[in-house]
Amino acid sequence: MNSVFVYCELEGAQVAPVSQELLTKGRSLANQLGVQLEAIAAGSNLKGIENQILQYGVDVLHVFDDKCLAPYTTAPHSAILVKLFQEEQPQIALMGATVIGRDLGPRVSSALGSGLTADCTNLEIGEYEDKKTGKVYENLLYQIRPAFGGNIIATIVNPDHRPQMATVRQGVMKNEPAGKGKGEIKNHKVSDYVSAADIAVSVIDRHMQKPSHHLDNASIVVAGGYGMGSREGFEMLYKLADALHAEVGASRAAVDAGFVDHDRQIGQTGITVRPKLYIACGISGQIQHIAGMRESSLIMSINQDPDAPINAIADYVITGRVEDVIPKLIRHYKEISK
Ligand code: FAD
Repeated sequence: MNSVFVYCELEGAQVAPVSQELLTKGRSLANQLGVQLEAIAAGSNLKGIENQILQYGVDVLHVFDDKCLAPYTTAPHSAILVKLFQEEQPQIALMGATVIGRDLGPRVSSALGSGLTADCTNLEIGEYEDKKTGKVYENLLYQIRPAFGGNIIATIVNPDHRPQMATVRQGVMKNEPAGKGKGEIKNHKVSDYVSAADIAVSVIDRHMQKPSHHLDNASIVVAGGYGMGSREGFEMLYKLADALHAEVGASRAAVDAGFVDHDRQIGQTGITVRPKLYIACGISGQIQHIAGMRESSLIMSINQDPDAPINAIADYVITGRVEDVIPKLIRHYKEISK
């Protein structure tokens, strides 16, 4: 039976969080289909990489270990995936909607003529009936993502071509190791997959900029919207975040108004977060914002409008002006944490 494959993105010898999330999802899809979950690790000095991957219930891990594979460059990684997929004929192949996944996915899918759905927010298994021919397809991958500016959620299927390929953003899926699967490791000879022409480009130098925040894995997010009124208004949020050991996020309207930097935008065209607690301050809750935070465990909304759309998905609603409510919250949390 054809397997579900996950391409594991590596930074050094560290598996990226988005790949761990995809392994979690991949395991559950493979269980539903009754097939194996297989993972690919391509990089350099990968001794022990299996310790990070097999715990997700992976049945087969394909390892490609060679210095030409790190840091990532397009051609050798594409060459590996194209040949491996031709050999193994997976039915599903998943990768992160990251800079690397967005570079690699289209190359591989166009070489295989398979199609690719980018930026999925959910993946499910289901059937599809072609209305023209009446043909019913069982066990297809539903590749679900916002479309038309986020106004509809589209379910995309790929009935005839394989693999069914999708990229998924970090933070959208859960990260839950499923325990050990069969755990077979296949060490491949890289020169069988990568030609001399594929390694024509070499990376001479890299400058890594440290992120200014850790929004994507914060357990509490305090997010501000246009209702915060100004950059100074956001200072209140940084104080609240400080008291709660939280990170500050924002809506696009707040970013566009210059209240906060773009890298803190949450939503369809920003980051996806799934914290334990999400406090939305002066955010109306348009679908494009909700797309990036709806998986939060607990949502609190502070808004002067009792009918703000975000209140419909909030667990707790405080109706009031942010200028009045937030200083009280800060005072209260400081008192109780003394
Ligand atoms: P508003 O909709 O203006 O809401 C402000 C809220 O603050 C209101 O509910 C108001 O009642 C409340 N308020 C005002 N003053 C106060 C006060 N003093 N105290 C308390 N409450 C107050 N948006 C995103 O956030 N992320 C995205 O990634 C994103 N991507 C997009 C992609 C596309 C293609 C498009 C078309 C739009 C996208 N948007 C995105 C924009 C989105 O549609 C909304 O415009 C945006 O989310 C609105 O931000 P907001 O809720 O802060 O502002």
